[in-house]
Amino acid sequence: MSESAMFSTYARYPITLVKGKGSRLWDDQGKEYLDFMTGLAVTSLGHAPDAVKDALVQQLDQLWHVSNLFSNPNQEKAARLLVDNSCADAVFFCNSGAEANEAAIKLARRYHQKVKGNDRYEIITFNQSFHGRTLATLTATGQDKVKEGFLPLPEGFRHVPLHDLAALEAAVNDKTAAIMLELVQAEGGVIPVDPDFLRGVRALCDREGILLILDEVQTGMGRTGKLFAYQHYDVEPDVFTLAKGIGSGFPVGAMLGKAHLKPAFVPGAHATTFGGTPIAMAAVAATIETMLKENVVERAAEASEYLIGQLEEKLGDLPNVDQVRGKGLLIGILCNEPASEAIAELHKRGLLVVPAGPNVIRLLPNLLVTHEEIDTAVGLIASVLSEKAAAKSVSP
Ligand SMILES: *Cc1c(COP(=O)(O)O)cnc(C)c1O
Repeated sequence: MSESAMFSTYARYPITLVKGKGSRLWDDQGKEYLDFMTGLAVTSLGHAPDAVKDALVQQLDQLWHVSNLFSNPNQEKAARLLVDNSCADAVFFCNSGAEANEAAIKLARRYHQKVKGNDRYEIITFNQSFHGRTLATLTATGQDKVKEGFLPLPEGFRHVPLHDLAALEAAVNDKTAAIMLELVQAEGGVIPVDPDFLRGVRALCDREGILLILDEVQTGMGRTGKLFAYQHYDVEPDVFTLAKGIGSGFPVGAMLGKAHLKPAFVPGAHATTFGGTPIAMAAVAATIETMLKENVVERAAEASEYLIGQLEEKLGDLPNVDQVRGKGLLIGILCNEPASEAIAELHKRGLLVVPAGPNVIRLLPNLLVTHEEIDTAVGLIASVLSEKAAAKSVSP
């Protein structure tokens, strides 16, 4: 085969997937896989869910694209569904998670500078966080590897250790515009945020006039067993962002904010050509309506309990497993060895999972995953990890 015509930005797995339905994927050799990664928390209703497919097909017959210079009933409908089911009062649609976070950062700065009339611009984020790959969002990200070779980075970002309220308080100054975090650090290793810490962050924001931005790009839309992860906590953000699970695989992002932020985004303040296109909005509305109508979020919470219970029972005694952690159907198996070998072996045996950092096997099944599928997946993970433990104990 000739050399690839693409930049080699991805270390790709040696599998070419060509078809997907529900929890199943098939490669170009006809081999079937059980999907416990959902395209990285994207296909939350499974592959090609009928309700979303029907909405897309119908929209394809009507209108594909319209400029945001015109009103767009599909966009209004999708925004209404999000607002009616969350603490937010307004939505800006874009095309990805990074763009949603970029919009949140811009909104925070503009709110302070144009509405409050101060010169706050700094955003505080946390070590191991992940917020995207644009220049601003990779600067916000608390991991050095995404920044290598991209200097100079934009100004106005600070990082502090997660769960260290004193360090956070010390980092706040009269330039602080917002504090931004994920409620489960996903790419950083599936690390859930402690409720007391989040309460402390909210109180600090209220005291200092700082905005709280939650990056729910991975945790949003039912993934954690609530429609939005903040609903696990008695805390509401000023701004939160969505992308991965919101369009069932159609590329779309959203930035949502409370009413007091609406005056910051006036006509001309922010824009996108493709954001909120009628097709994308048909996918979003059908995804949310399906989630609500079919109690998908409650079913995800129930599946989560079963999955975590089975993982603890079947992996709990293995010497190479330290911890099972996460929220809902965003689960990490923390190993005390690199996870990549086990992941490659699981792929060979027909279970698709991904890492989260070097030692964590991350499980992201769709939200409709059955007990039978969970049994299959846990059985495969238990065999692979126990075989690895046995091999290690006999080798010198
Ligand atoms: C994936 C992810 C992003 C970036 O989303 P893209 O659509 O890849 O730009 C940002 N934040 C979090 C928490 C993510 O998981």
